[in-house]
Amino acid sequence: MKVYKFGGASVKTADGVRNLQLIVEDCIGSLFIIISAMGKTTNALEVVLENFMERRTDKAKESLLIVEQFHRGIISDLFGAGVTIDSVEGVLKSLDDILSTNETIKDMDYDLWYDRVISCGELLSTLIISEYLNSRGVSNRWIDVRECLITDSKHRDANVNMELSEARFKDAIKDTHISIGQGFIGADESGTATTLGREGSDYSAALVANFLDAESISIWKDVEGVLNADPRVFSDAVYIPELTYLDAIELAYSGAQIIHPKSIKPLQNKNIPLYVRPFSDKSKCGSVIKETIKSKIVIPILIVKQNQILLSIRPQDFSFVLEDRLCEVLNMFEEYDIKPNLIQSSAVNLSVSVNMSRLLERLMAKLRVEGFRVVHNEDMEILTIRGYDSAVLERYCLGDDVYLTQKTRRIIRVVRKAVH
Ligand code: ASP
Ligand code: MG
Repeated sequence: MKVYKFGGASVKTADGVRNLQLIVEDCIGSLFIIISAMGKTTNALEVVLENFMERRTDKAKESLLIVEQFHRGIISDLFGAGVTIDSVEGVLKSLDDILSTNETIKDMDYDLWYDRVISCGELLSTLIISEYLNSRGVSNRWIDVRECLITDSKHRDANVNMELSEARFKDAIKDTHISIGQGFIGADESGTATTLGREGSDYSAALVANFLDAESISIWKDVEGVLNADPRVFSDAVYIPELTYLDAIELAYSGAQIIHPKSIKPLQNKNIPLYVRPFSDKSKCGSVIKETIKSKIVIPILIVKQNQILLSIRPQDFSFVLEDRLCEVLNMFEEYDIKPNLIQSSAVNLSVSVNMSRLLERLMAKLRVEGFRVVHNEDMEILTIRGYDSAVLERYCLGDDVYLTQKTRRIIRVVRKAVH
């Protein structure tokens, strides 16, 4: 058994779907394919949801029409003009029904509605692709992951019930050569749709690989493999053929967009190698992430986390009490669901770098009420460099634009004025 995962970018057009067929056809042995929503569908559905929650029904319908037309366009291209797929029509109708609901929409139910609406993106993509492959003689079974990936009811960030899900997946794929299921979505025990957090499809694929004891998992992407830096930011980025799970976790946590950070653990637990491969050229082997690798990575790895705000927090009275109040301060971050990306404390001052968030103003107000002086710097970024050398240090980590530095023997992290 192998697991393949295709992200939204690889199936954003009919040609992308045709290319998926070419890749899948070649696979020997049984296969489980996890697919994300096509192109930018998740973002488009978020717009539908915003309009719906704000009771702008006309606008919501208009934005839903864009989603419908996008998918109908791909269907026409794949199957011929005017062709419709009943199951796809069913999902579109369910979205339309949501917009016309008589239920009272409460703001506090935002996350619940989010999962009901947004999960449709993955239902649409998998239904279209499964139907297309069947029509081309690549026979497969469409799996409703909401019946297999069982989670708690923490909407938008659901936790997976591993035991129950494993049993359901094993059952679902019996006697099936190729199975196709949705990334990112699941359901709680009552059958209500849940999601695993944005970009969660990698995690879904890793879980399925774990449950089904896959020999390997391949993530097909629009890059050659894993690079030592984002090529859009660093023009001299180079490709890394092999990484360990530990390398991958460190990279993912520092913001490298190779793979969702949660995906590594289910793979490491069962020692399943993960390939990151370019969907535009299936003859290339891409990068492999596994337990042990032949040679250590010797080049520095650079990761930028953008859109950071650097907060400086100190007790109003300049007393040396911050140490005692550290927990209290961090609890306030937790309360507003703002995750510190980097923390540095001295006796009187706490520096915290966080993502831009709509709740940040409120957190700062609360800190002030609780007796802290808070200043902040906008437009910052965190640069993490693993395996740095003096040339790299000099080039990226010195100068007035660097506000804060954290350094161990192997890793340096700086918060600096955004340059990108
Ligand atoms: N479609 C979801 C998203 O865009 C999940 C994923 O692509 O991994 O976040
Ligand atoms: Mg995606």
